[in-house]
Amino acid sequence: MSEQTIALVTGANKGIGYEIAAGLGGLGWRVGVGARSEERREAAVAKLRAAGVDAFGVPLDVTDDASVTAAAGLIEDRAGRLDVLVNNAGVTGGMPQTPTTVNPETVRVTVETNVIGVIRVTNAMLPLLRRSAAPRIVNMSSSVGSLTRQSTPGAETGPISAAYSPSKTFLNAVTVQYAKEFRELGDTGILINAACPGYCATDLNGFRGVRTPEQGAAIAVRLATLPDDGPTGGFFEDAGEVPW
Ligand code: NAP
Repeated sequence: MSEQTIALVTGANKGIGYEIAAGLGGLGWRVGVGARSEERREAAVAKLRAAGVDAFGVPLDVTDDASVTAAAGLIEDRAGRLDVLVNNAGVTGGMPQTPTTVNPETVRVTVETNVIGVIRVTNAMLPLLRRSAAPRIVNMSSSVGSLTRQSTPGAETGPISAAYSPSKTFLNAVTVQYAKEFRELGDTGILINAACPGYCATDLNGFRGVRTPEQGAAIAVRLATLPDDGPTGGFFEDAGEVPW
């Protein structure tokens, strides 16, 4: 079995996910580039390889059971284990999505990707993560999922949304539950945390964000490289803990 650290980043063909793959690859890690479009996936893998990253493509649609099962099989064949999983793939569901007018389908699609997709991928990868000496899971959340910030007048919380912000609140809650279960199972080696990248210029927001995707990737890289006594079940941005 390879001694090189093995990571999988979902939604790694562009934006923050691509930069997380580049950041982890820069540490000398072997990085699986999870992406659903073959063309975009292979373009990202080629770009990462040109930059010296030991990258390989992982066909992956986080909303599809068969795709996720196949992705776990591919990583098993390629590496035999997984050290780090970054659940980065996400969608807004499209704006506007004010609660009083939202199409319920928008909520369903958003939760299917941002929450259920994370659970689907995490559970499929857990047998491989349990073979690692230091498994780490990072769930890419957002500070717009912070109920504390959403209910603080004047706080920067993005547009009113019935799907995207609540999906990240849901994801945060699920992250806490995983951490609780890992503790109860005695799986103390697995550290799972939620990350907020800040407002980054990507396709997700029509490139209106004020940070670069590379800046947004930094917190995920930090949580992916936590020491064994690092936190679990937490929610972090560059400046420290984000209030729930
Ligand atoms: P992005 O550029 O739109 O990238 C999103 C990635 O997710 C793309 O690679 C996309 O693939 C992938 N994806 C979407 N649905 C998928 C599915 N069903 N299966 C597999 N991959 C899927 O957005 P981003 O800004 O980098 O966002 C990355 C993460 O950061 C998201 O979870 C987002 O919510 C979070 N975030 C972003 C910001 C920000 O300001 N940008 C702020 C807070 C949190 P395709 O190319 O195939 O669509």
